[in-house]
Amino acid sequence: MSQSSTPETDWVSRFADDVIAESERRAPGKPVVVASGLSPSGPIHLGNLREVMTPHLVADEIRRRGYEVRHLISWDDYDRYRKVPNGVPGIDESWAEHIGKPLTSVPAPAGSSYPNWAEHFKAPMVAALAELGVEFDGISQTEQYTAGTYREQVLHAMKHRADIDAVLDRYRTKKDPAAGKKSQKPVDEAELEAAEGSGAASEDDGTSGSAYYPYKPYCGQCERDLTTVTAYDDESTELTYTCVCGFTETVFLKEFNRGKLVWKVDWPMRWAYEGVIFEPSGVDHSSPGSSFVVGGQIVREVFDGVQPIGPMYAFVGISGMAKMSSSKGGVPTPGDALKIMEAPLLRWLYARRKPNQSFKIAFDQEIQRLYDEWDKLSLKVADGSVLPADAAAYSRAVGTAAGELPRTPRPLSYRTLASVADITAGAEDQTLRILSELDPSDPIASLDEVRPRLDRAESWITSYVPADQRTLVRAEPDAATLAELGDADRESLRLLVEGLDSHWSLDGLTTLVYGVPKIQAGLSADAKPTPELKVAQRTFFALLYQLLVGRDTGPRLPTLLLAVGAERVRKLLGA
Ligand SMILES: [Zn+2]
Repeated sequence: MSQSSTPETDWVSRFADDVIAESERRAPGKPVVVASGLSPSGPIHLGNLREVMTPHLVADEIRRRGYEVRHLISWDDYDRYRKVPNGVPGIDESWAEHIGKPLTSVPAPAGSSYPNWAEHFKAPMVAALAELGVEFDGISQTEQYTAGTYREQVLHAMKHRADIDAVLDRYRTKKDPAAGKKSQKPVDEAELEAAEGSGAASEDDGTSGSAYYPYKPYCGQCERDLTTVTAYDDESTELTYTCVCGFTETVFLKEFNRGKLVWKVDWPMRWAYEGVIFEPSGVDHSSPGSSFVVGGQIVREVFDGVQPIGPMYAFVGISGMAKMSSSKGGVPTPGDALKIMEAPLLRWLYARRKPNQSFKIAFDQEIQRLYDEWDKLSLKVADGSVLPADAAAYSRAVGTAAGELPRTPRPLSYRTLASVADITAGAEDQTLRILSELDPSDPIASLDEVRPRLDRAESWITSYVPADQRTLVRAEPDAATLAELGDADRESLRLLVEGLDSHWSLDGLTTLVYGVPKIQAGLSADAKPTPELKVAQRTFFALLYQLLVGRDTGPRLPTLLLAVGAERVRKLLGA
């Protein structure tokens, strides 16, 4: 535990150095506190995962060095329900009547087993974080506020409302459109625009008419936050508010728990309350007037605290969702990503890129290349040829300070597994037959050896590969094409069919399919490819695809041939 297990050469290590030093300066001997904030206002998008992964990786490195760390995830479930999201099953337009209520007071979608809206959308994120090996302390802001946990801070903020107002006033004229809340970062530029229109960016900072109050009650009659504080007495804490519904009430804030500080005050209050040393936020918060910048002044001037080390992270995009989004109701969640890729791969995407570098998470064909790259890295780690920074990213991906994450015992190529899943449509006996023939010298004996990677590849094929790109092996030979073949084509098919039995493995069939055009050209099997040979190989492959699957492309041919089976290959090739 006390030894650093990773080289000190990557961004995670450098932040860990800074965070440990800052924590020892500010709170010697106390656990190091890092934080994330998530708003369960709807499905928590994959784009928001960076909010958690950035502090998680730093926290994990600090734990590996033997320090105690608290990674707080603030569930901003006491935020107002802003809008009815699109594409969420089990809701209808009647949910609009809840706009303005705390997220924990909005009913969950129909059929949900959770007691309210916030819990319904929190649960899949909690499950995904568990699978990713993210250890955290979840803090419900509903629980904190309604229990009066922040009482002292709320009264303090109200007492110092003029100071807060003065800080906010430095920025009010700047009209910064990105000055909104940091949670629920959008996943790409289009989403960014959508989110900015949603009200997140234009959140009320507490200004109402002539007076400024940093606290907003939820209405005692309609539960919404469409309230205006009309009077406040510092001495007695007597507060009067009115609501657009017509309700008005006078309460004592020293014993009232149904309301919250406005976001730009709430966030720095919590930095001070929890002693947060590290909390990143999205790049849209680097501008003057953003809640991170304003919060830095409020925490110092009002709460006598210190702003966390807070790197800005770039957006994480998704590739391959454009086609799917209309049918699947929008952007994917971390749980969706974990259905098509193993947790270490997803962790690796975050570990290998500095927070200020943007990247995309592939839901399209690119995922196969990504897996190839990951497998190459694993081999380099195994043979010791890996570079230090790559080794660090790898070790952060495959496990945490608590231990290794589950991995696939025999990590066969994702590309191959996807092709097999494509062709077999998930039929287990056929899948096992094909996989056991890939390498006859060391056959797969059970599908458990290739799980969970096999399940992820199957899930990718069935969920994200469009029907027109799926492989359908012909039931009957393509008689028309076969009848029109010239002598050279017939000869190539004959050479292939003849070689099937003696080459029946992944490696053997690779040699065979590339070798047939060489033999026809009078070249030796190990001849270097010439431009002419490459053309001949492409032509030959296109013919095979046409005869086997009725298209001019498909899964890699050796995999396809193994999957189709020798007998059926012979039949489809007219032998
Ligand atoms: Zn009301």
